[in-house]
Amino acid sequence: MSEYRQSRCSFCGELESPERELIKVGNVAICSECVDHCANIFHERYEDEESLEQDLLLPTPAKIKEYLDEYVIGQDSPKRTIAVAVYNHYKRVWKAQEQDGVKIEKSNILMMGPTGCGKTYIAQTLAKMLKVPFAIADATTLTEAGYVGEDVENILVRLLQSANYDVKKAEKGIIYIDEIDKIARKSESTSITRDVSGEGVQQAILKILEGTVVNVPPKGGRKHPNQDFIQMDTSDILFIVGGAFAGIERLIKQRVNKKSIGFDSTIISKEQKSQLMQQVSYEDILHYGLIPEMIGRLPVLTTFEQLNKQALKNILTVPKNALVRQYKALFALEGVDLEITDQALEKVAELAMSQKLGARSLRSIMEKSMLDIMYEVPDMQGLQKCVVGQDVISDGGKPEYQF
Ligand code: ADP
Repeated sequence: MSEYRQSRCSFCGELESPERELIKVGNVAICSECVDHCANIFHERYEDEESLEQDLLLPTPAKIKEYLDEYVIGQDSPKRTIAVAVYNHYKRVWKAQEQDGVKIEKSNILMMGPTGCGKTYIAQTLAKMLKVPFAIADATTLTEAGYVGEDVENILVRLLQSANYDVKKAEKGIIYIDEIDKIARKSESTSITRDVSGEGVQQAILKILEGTVVNVPPKGGRKHPNQDFIQMDTSDILFIVGGAFAGIERLIKQRVNKKSIGFDSTIISKEQKSQLMQQVSYEDILHYGLIPEMIGRLPVLTTFEQLNKQALKNILTVPKNALVRQYKALFALEGVDLEITDQALEKVAELAMSQKLGARSLRSIMEKSMLDIMYEVPDMQGLQKCVVGQDVISDGGKPEYQF
């Protein structure tokens, strides 16, 4: 009789076979199925620990606001509103979807405000703070499936990429959709006209806002019948949508002044506009052309202020990673102390104001002004200090070099 005895798994007791390979250490053996089983147990255990850890890490609204304050200048009211909404969202996602039988609904956010006032930046900063994946999309480039342009699913591809293809992580990320106002359907108001109806795109965005399982082509692009899909559930993704809603103040004015007679709807001063914007309601947004279902999915509404000259000046110097701080750090690597005078900063802010792109133009104005200096400084032996005055910004003047 043969001495050969088939080995058994020490855990499940099953015999070794081509389908059930064994790993043996001394007298103990484990089969491939038990290895898989153990891997799953560990995976679930780590997931639990991860959610526990995230729960412990979830900052309170005040802490979120405090963090935003380090980076985002002004916009106090949006920062508070968003801090609360984000806190509630992650409480729901990381802790409980339901409390005492009450289902906690998702609170996606609608941000309204002019170009370059910090809408995208706030969303970005939040994702960085919470260490969740983040993706930005432009509503105007999105199309309904089958049309020329980008499928709405591609937003999810970007989120997936930002999560390093960890689907579970991506499903708890943040998506910012910009220029939502540009896909408003033809407005009821005659003062705002659009010739292209964005309703189809709104419907497509609505689907992912509502929470659904989407088949995502992992590499993006058009869906291809032979491509493998990744299934992504959008229920726990926080959507933040933003737009300038140019001209909406007229709709607000019309609604607010419904009963007054003889007002002139064509003249709205800057101050009036700012006051009106604070009174914006969902009714106005509906009139503007967002479909009611979409509005229903964006329960948190917040209005951003146009940044004034002082705010722009502060953006240059105050935030943790402010532009001027970045330039100073660059020059310090060269062993040079960089000073940009207050008048110079004032000039940069003034130029940015005239370009009407909010804080967006600050960087290009600074880059343009600093280019020549950054070109010649590395060759200046013994340079100690470089003082950038107003004329460097406006008239291509030379800075003061101190050796
Ligand atoms: P938008 O409101 O059009 O989304 P962004 O958030 O993209 O504007 O702003 C463009 C850039 O300007 C940001 O990346 C940021 O560097 C700067 N910025 C805008 N607003 C602020 C702000 N309130 N505080 C600090 N930096 C800002």
